[in-house]
Amino acid sequence: MVKQRIFSGAQPTGQLHIGNYLGALRNWVALQDEYESFYCIVNLHAITLPQDPKILRQKTLDLARIYLAAGIDPARSTVFIQSDVSEHAELTWVLSCTSRMGELERMTQFKDKAKGSSERAGVGLFTYPVLMAADILLYQTDLVPIGKDQKQHLELTRDLAERFNRDFGETFKIPDPYIPPVGANIKSLQDPTKKMSKSDENVTGSIFLLDDADTVTKKLKRAVTDSGTDIRFDDSRPAITNLLTIYHLLTGKSNEECEEHFEGKGYGQFKSELAEVVVEFLRPFQERVKEYDDDALKSVLTAGAEKARSIARSTLNNVYSKMGIR
Ligand code: ATP
Ligand code: MG
Repeated sequence: MVKQRIFSGAQPTGQLHIGNYLGALRNWVALQDEYESFYCIVNLHAITLPQDPKILRQKTLDLARIYLAAGIDPARSTVFIQSDVSEHAELTWVLSCTSRMGELERMTQFKDKAKGSSERAGVGLFTYPVLMAADILLYQTDLVPIGKDQKQHLELTRDLAERFNRDFGETFKIPDPYIPPVGANIKSLQDPTKKMSKSDENVTGSIFLLDDADTVTKKLKRAVTDSGTDIRFDDSRPAITNLLTIYHLLTGKSNEECEEHFEGKGYGQFKSELAEVVVEFLRPFQERVKEYDDDALKSVLTAGAEKARSIARSTLNNVYSKMGIR
């Protein structure tokens, strides 16, 4: 039986945080047996905001290291760098010709990242979702595991694919999102109305996957809480619910077990137990990150790009042929 296909990616910007892991990476690992999986380091997305070239180059390799340490197995999944497969940029041009200004103007990530100034924002930041659509559609992807923040971009991807198929004939598979029921929207420790983000200037809001034990403990100690004392899942108390969600996902305890465990305990105790759980989760992960040297990584990435390119090329050739370019 032919396996269905997965595509997903993360940007080599800032540092990966526990939200990226719980919302995305963890599911990539879980799904890699059942699906033919493509996991991309989306460095062309990273330059939608200014990056230091030297740091970007290093972060790109570091992110590959993190994928592998998180449990992505290059023998089962294709891991590659976006810019190694130039078809991503080519299909982006084609799709930017079929996208409408109006539909891109509705994308909330642009509004957030442009910080209200579209006059000064880069055009690439505006067309970011078109590049994301190209990433996904090149591989005839069935399923895209993402956090909740990317839901709108996936809907646009489906719209662009449907429009293309309607105008030029059946070309792209229409991908479905996979958004986990829990963990898809981990919040900032400093502001539970905002998602935890790599690009958040306030680093105390995020637990990074490479944070040491001391830093994790300090960040959790300083995490904002809600009024009251109860340690329960409750939508009207988003700070505590966010912390409990992290505890629930990392321990595997049910919501009821988590609540029972913390019944009668104070916020101080809760935060220090949560810190222990997070540190114990990060320890072996951080050990594994050190295992991969640059040469080993580069050979994984070269093989990954080669495999990705052959599929991407075939989709792009079909697109060009349908449009009369070839
Ligand atoms: P940036 O702020 O630079 O956009 P980011 O934290 O949003 O960084 P991305 O590389 O854009 O990270 O996203 C990688 C994956 O992680 C995506 O699937 C995204 O939906 C998911 N993700 C990002 N933030 C969270 C979060 N707070 N909770 C759950 N999933 C998340
Ligand atoms: Mg993002």
